[in-house]
Amino acid sequence: MMHPNNITPSNIARVHECPMTLDIERQMDQIRFCDYAPGAAAHAIAALELLKRVDCGWPKGKIDQLKEQAKNLLSYIDVQEHKWIYGAGMGAANFVKGATLDPDAEFFAEHDVTIDDPHNGPMYGRADFIVLENERSKAKIIELKYGQRIPLKAVRPQLMCYALALVQEHPSIKQIALCLLCPNDRPGVPQWAYVTREEVLEWAVNYLGPTIAAALAKHSKAIAGNHCMGCRAMGGCRHHADWVGSEFTREPVLMNNNELARHLDLLQTREDIYNAARTEAIHRIGAGEVVGDYYIQPNGDREIWTTTIDRAAIVALAKTHNVPLSYLFHRPRNASNIRADYPDFFKALKEAGHIRKQSAYKLMSNRGNPLKTPLKLRKKGEYKSE
Ligand code: SF4
Repeated sequence: MMHPNNITPSNIARVHECPMTLDIERQMDQIRFCDYAPGAAAHAIAALELLKRVDCGWPKGKIDQLKEQAKNLLSYIDVQEHKWIYGAGMGAANFVKGATLDPDAEFFAEHDVTIDDPHNGPMYGRADFIVLENERSKAKIIELKYGQRIPLKAVRPQLMCYALALVQEHPSIKQIALCLLCPNDRPGVPQWAYVTREEVLEWAVNYLGPTIAAALAKHSKAIAGNHCMGCRAMGGCRHHADWVGSEFTREPVLMNNNELARHLDLLQTREDIYNAARTEAIHRIGAGEVVGDYYIQPNGDREIWTTTIDRAAIVALAKTHNVPLSYLFHRPRNASNIRADYPDFFKALKEAGHIRKQSAYKLMSNRGNPLKTPLKLRKKGEYKSE
C-alpha cells in the first residue's frame, strides 16, 4: 500500500504547517519544469561526481541513465547557470567523500529509502547522500539544497524522515549526523547536527505521526503562512491570497520590528509594497533599532558579481591570495561577503572586473552571517568600510 496523500519526506514540513497543502496542490496544474530543473540537475551532477570518486555500488546502466537525465535537465537551463550547477555538484561530491575518516565507509547517492508506517503504508523518499560508517553504528545524511537563499537548520523534518528510515533498516545505527549543503550559504560552512537513534524514534511519535494524522483527517484545514513560499499551489491558493492580502494592507509604520523584518523577507518581489517597508526599516535602523538581521551598507551600495563570470580566472586569483577553494562554494550574490572575509582577494576581483556595484539596494539582509553584520560590528567599533 502506497502512503496516502503522497506524503513524502520532502513535503512533510509543509504538511505539518498546512495539513491541506497536498490536497490543494493536487487541484493545481502549475508545477513548472523550469522551477525545479536547476536543482534536479545539480543533484544529478553531484551524484555523478561522487560516483567518480567512490564506489556507490551502482551498475553501469544506472549511471548511464543518470548521465542522460543530467544532460536533458541541463538543456532546459540557461548556459550561464551551468557553471554554478557543476560547481555545486563537484563541491557536494568532494564534501561527501571527505565527510568520513572511515576507510571502509559505505557511500550511497540518490538513495531510495522507505519509512515504515504501520497505519498508512510505507512512505518513500530519496536521500541525496548517505554514508554508513564505523561498521554501520553511525550514519551521515547529507542533503544538497541548490539555490537555497537562506541557510536552513540541519535538523529538519526531511532529514529526520531519512534518519528514521535508516534506523528502521539498520538496528545497529546508534547515532546519525545530519547536514545541509547550501552552495550559496553565506558563511559557506555546512552545519552539522547530531541525533541519536532514540531521538529519531521520539521525533517520529511526536511530530511525524500527528502530522500525518492531521493531513489525513476528514476536516483538515489549510493554514497559510511563511511556509507557503515552498508550496507549488501558492500562485492559485485562495488561503494564501487571503493571508497575503491581510499582510499587504498593513502599514509598515504600525508593525513591530519583527513583523517588519518578516514583511521585508516576504515582499522582495513586490517592489511597490517592499519600498514602503524598506523606507521604514532604514529609518528605524538609522535610529539604532534592530529590524531582524537587516542592515544598511556603510556606503549605501551593494556589491554584486558581473553577469559573466570567468571561473578559471577567479580560481587562479583565489590561489594567489590563499583563499581556500571551498570558500568559493557560493552563488554569485554573495560577493559582498568576500570583502569582509578576504579584503585583498576582493580587491583583486574588483580590479579584474569580476565585481561591479549596484547602487539600487540600500538595505541588505544578512541572514546566515549575523555576527558579521556591519551594523553589529560598527556598534562594537570593529567594522571599517573600505
Ligand atoms: S499556498 Fe499555503 S495555504 Fe495554500 S496550500 Fe500551500 S501551504 Fe497551504
